[in-house]
Amino acid sequence: MTVSIWQADGSQPIREVDFLIVGAGIVGVAAANFAAQAGREVVITEMRDVALGASSRNAGFMITGLDAYYHRAIERYGHDIVRELWQLSAQTHRYWREFIAKDGDNARLEQCGSLLLAESDAEARELELAAKALNADGIEVVFHASDPLRRGYSAAIEQPWDCAVQPYELAWAALRTSGAALISNNEVYKVEQTNPDYAVVHTRQFIFHARHVLLCTNAYSRFIHPYFEGKVIPTRAQCLVTAPLKAPVMSGCGYSDYGYMYYRMTFDGRLLIGGGRKDYKALENTSEDCVSDPVQRYLDNYLRVRFPDVTEPVERRWAGIMGFSADGVPLVGTLPDCPRVGFAVGFTGHGLAFGAGVAERAVDHLLTGAHPGAVWAGRLG
Ligand SMILES: Cc1cc2nc3c(=O)[nH]c(=O)nc-3n(C[C@H](O)[C@H](O)[C@H](O)COP(=O)(O)OP(=O)(O)OC[C@H]3O[C@@H](n4cnc5c(N)ncnc54)[C@H](O)[C@@H]3O)c2cc1C
Repeated sequence: MTVSIWQADGSQPIREVDFLIVGAGIVGVAAANFAAQAGREVVITEMRDVALGASSRNAGFMITGLDAYYHRAIERYGHDIVRELWQLSAQTHRYWREFIAKDGDNARLEQCGSLLLAESDAEARELELAAKALNADGIEVVFHASDPLRRGYSAAIEQPWDCAVQPYELAWAALRTSGAALISNNEVYKVEQTNPDYAVVHTRQFIFHARHVLLCTNAYSRFIHPYFEGKVIPTRAQCLVTAPLKAPVMSGCGYSDYGYMYYRMTFDGRLLIGGGRKDYKALENTSEDCVSDPVQRYLDNYLRVRFPDVTEPVERRWAGIMGFSADGVPLVGTLPDCPRVGFAVGFTGHGLAFGAGVAERAVDHLLTGAHPGAVWAGRLG
């Protein structure tokens, strides 16, 4: 989104703010809770409205851990980092439950478990190795050498503690528990720090002078500051959902093809299928928020092949923009030229797995200088 000179010519009123959060997705509203708990007066500015970015367009899987299978993640990031990230993910899930318990009258969250499923024998071998590595770390996943869904998969890992959630309701619940003031329909178009005591945040309606600013703008971060160029890459993801089925065809969250495919029953009895971008990465490397024919055809075909018993029509198709970090791990830090401006971004399709825990570290880092651990952005240089 850009802001024209007609929309904001620099004469917007100045508004002083203690703790300003940019972006009211699940990460921004989670951060608002932690900043409020630290005694800060929190304002959130959002270019659309609550959770209208990826946060209400996702599949609602609360699957613990990174997208890479556990043993592969250890090879890539090291054992200590992977263990730390697993704990951060488990902590994130506890926070989502807490927000819903405090103020989630309508927010649905169900501990239905997840199944990481193998689309091939090669993936089945990967899952077996991942299960061994998880078990060796005391994480009691169950390995199935055959397909628990009886739909032609080759093997599965079951994580019984994982959950499915209605993500839009979750975001609203977390906003309410935070007590933060929300200013919707208010894009940020420039952030700078010309005074050591506050950052200046230019938005369509106001120019904020904020003692602390936290960018929770995930995929859109590079439109606010060049620091994010090459560090957070906008990546489109797509879903379809059928009309309500006569009976559920699965329970839990299904995740396969190394995370490129995912499926679940919605709380109102529809089958949701998402993913399908593996063969269309260049096309889907975009921040354009619309569905594309090749990916939707792929999802249609997947529905026919894996769920041939589902004859109900597809009723809705949608897309959302994720922010993939350069190395697959979220990013927390402060902008090199604006020490009062922090960020919690780069969720790599796993904001429900890491969002709240990472938001907490970002708030701590900004307010106290505490090291954010494995999610510290300084690792990327
Ligand atoms: C189809 C799909 C399926 C997914 N499935 C899952 C899943 O099952 N499980 C999972 O863990 N994750 C999933 N994800 C990823 C998950 O949705 C994201 O990781 C998560 O929503 C990130 O939250 P966020 O708050 O960082 O980003 P967003 O929800 O994108 O929020 C960023 C907010 O910042 C606002 N903003 C941006 N720029 C500005 C600006 N200049 N001024 C003001 N406001 C601004 C945006 O409007 C937006 O509301 C999926 C994503 C998609 C698209």
